[in-house]
Amino acid sequence: MNRERDSEVIVIGLGGMGLAACRELARRGVRVLGLEQHTIGHALGSSHGGTRVVRQAYFEHPDYVPLLRRAMDGFLRLEQESGLALLERCGVVIVGGLDSSLISASAGAAAAHGIEVERLEGTVLRARLPQFFAKDDVGPSLGLLEPGGGFVRPERVLRALAMLSMRDGARLRERVPVRSWRTTSDGVEVEAGDGRFRADRVVITAGAWNPAVLVAREARPGPLPLTAVRQVQSWLRPHEPRLADAARFPAWLVDRGEGAAPLYGVPIDAAATPDEPGFGCAKVAVHGEGEPCDPDRVDRTVSDAELTAIEALARQHLPGLPGRLESARVCLYTNSPDGHFLIDRHPLDERVAIAAGFSGHGFKFVPVVGEALADLATTGRTDLPIGFLAASRFS
Ligand SMILES: Cc1cc2nc3c(=O)[nH]c(=O)nc-3n(C[C@H](O)[C@H](O)[C@H](O)COP(=O)(O)OP(=O)(O)OC[C@H]3O[C@@H](n4cnc5c(N)ncnc54)[C@H](O)[C@@H]3O)c2cc1C
Repeated sequence: MNRERDSEVIVIGLGGMGLAACRELARRGVRVLGLEQHTIGHALGSSHGGTRVVRQAYFEHPDYVPLLRRAMDGFLRLEQESGLALLERCGVVIVGGLDSSLISASAGAAAAHGIEVERLEGTVLRARLPQFFAKDDVGPSLGLLEPGGGFVRPERVLRALAMLSMRDGARLRERVPVRSWRTTSDGVEVEAGDGRFRADRVVITAGAWNPAVLVAREARPGPLPLTAVRQVQSWLRPHEPRLADAARFPAWLVDRGEGAAPLYGVPIDAAATPDEPGFGCAKVAVHGEGEPCDPDRVDRTVSDAELTAIEALARQHLPGLPGRLESARVCLYTNSPDGHFLIDRHPLDERVAIAAGFSGHGFKFVPVVGEALADLATTGRTDLPIGFLAASRFS
């Protein structure tokens, strides 16, 4: 690496993924500069909202499981090193019909990788999780509980990563939007804020702005098909808060069947403070509906019609947990065509590493994505099993 410059690696975008890369690079003694267009922990991207579900019996693809295991170790280490409470292992349950494809795929991943899960049916399911049942017993037929799952607190994770990155020498600059970047004969050059920054390599982790940042490169088209999508997360204040307490109610996902986006949620986080999102409330949201958007122009107001629709879904699927919707917030997914991540070197230049297309399920991977990006940015390769997330699948 060129030691003449201030930085060896520049990271563009300091959400969960970018900060994890900064933290890991700094930990390895690499001189890293992180550039963020807003402030660290802002609520305009993808890494905000108080809680993010973590689970390992992964219906999305069993190849994620080794990465999830490593990510979980990473969260535990981050918790120790930062002294912040980041993780709540209240369990995660997926409920649905007997033919639920999400449950069978999760059970398959659990069996293949030896992950502890518990199958709940009939009266056992109803007794354990009355929140999903109406008085007349109408409710899901099947549940798959993963006791080791739960949720992490994204704003705190970002705080921990930023703190430890800076402790180990990373320079993190806020309110410095990157306008363009290019590779040169001896490295990369980034124009951002009112400055120009040079380094040997660049890591691009711009979340919903990735499509724009990836094309902000001289005379080259962006070959990666990514779409920013508007999402709504909302918070329900239960009439009986004890029913939604993480001590008795896990994080959850309802398989609504073929063609309907799953509904999911997180119990009340007893460790949340009044300044954290959704204080005293349980989270409820739909995973995967939403319109493509431009992250700089997206409507950030949640309409009454949207609130009414979520409230109706909560009433239908959580009849045993009545309450009122108290607040809601817009958040952004960045979808890839197949719903899987893209973690790789840029197809046109190996000095550029990218982590993108997290398609609404990336946060639980944050620590391991940081490791993969640090590997790619320093050696151009990684031993982590991310081959199935390569950019070449879109070419
Ligand atoms: C409502 C919602 C619920 C979710 N729930 C879960 C869940 O339960 N479990 C789970 O695992 N995942 C979940 N996810 C997904 C997960 O949160 C995301 O995959 C993850 O946060 C993506 O992180 P990121 O760093 O890629 O993006 P971001 O956090 O958005 O970070 C990108 C950063 O780049 C910055 N940036 C962009 N352009 C520039 C520029 N030109 N110059 C400088 N900076 C720039 C942005 O300002 C931003 O800070 C959820 C996402 C949403 C929206």
